[in-house]
Amino acid sequence: MTTIAVKLQAVRERIAAAALACARDPASVHLLAVSKTWPAASVLAAAACGQRAFGESYVQEGIDKIAELATMPGIEWHFIGPLQSNKTRPVAENFAWVHSIDRLKIAERLSAQRPQGLPPLSVCIQVNVSGEASKSGVAPAEAAELAHRVTALPRLRLRGLMAIPAPADDFAAQRAPFRELRELFERLRGEGLPLDTLSMGMSDDLEAAIAEGSTLVRVGTAIFGQR
Ligand SMILES: *Cc1c(COP(=O)(O)O)cnc(C)c1O
Repeated sequence: MTTIAVKLQAVRERIAAAALACARDPASVHLLAVSKTWPAASVLAAAACGQRAFGESYVQEGIDKIAELATMPGIEWHFIGPLQSNKTRPVAENFAWVHSIDRLKIAERLSAQRPQGLPPLSVCIQVNVSGEASKSGVAPAEAAELAHRVTALPRLRLRGLMAIPAPADDFAAQRAPFRELRELFERLRGEGLPLDTLSMGMSDDLEAAIAEGSTLVRVGTAIFGQR
């Protein structure tokens, strides 16, 4: 059995190689370790190797894990799963980031429920680019309006865009939806939105995402094993 430490190191090397292959600084690509379905002990093992940001997809599981690890300093929690409006409060109170904003109502609730003592919640808008595996995400044509509205909410800080393309096995096919997201990202920046995060790329397609400008890859299986 390969340990988390060894697999985490291998993922870091993949990220660095992919960045260097397109003349990017490896430090410009952040790694989010997706710990959904794995116990707090797995998070601790990765944290012991210097991993700081962790991603969770299910509200209750995430909240339980955050509580279990409350005494561990320096861990940053990202919510990356679908979010229903009746579950926004614990997310607003416990996470640093939400990557899956796909409608204004969710953003408004998160902003209203974000505790005053915490910094604004960093958020990404999830876009349903062509070939999106799930049905969540705003249509590309509606992303700009949602982005401008989210920017106006006081307790949120819009950081960028996120997508989950359907699996594809050749590199060119993997790149196409990532390119679409990157072009949308550049358009929004051109409209004056101060976005710094392109959340795209997972265990099987992080090289293609980095080639298209990803600044944050969300990796579960390659670090923790098959779920
Ligand atoms: C589970 C999940 C991941 C990680 O996927 P792997 O293929 O295990 O790397 C990334 N992003 C989201 C939104 C997820 O739900």
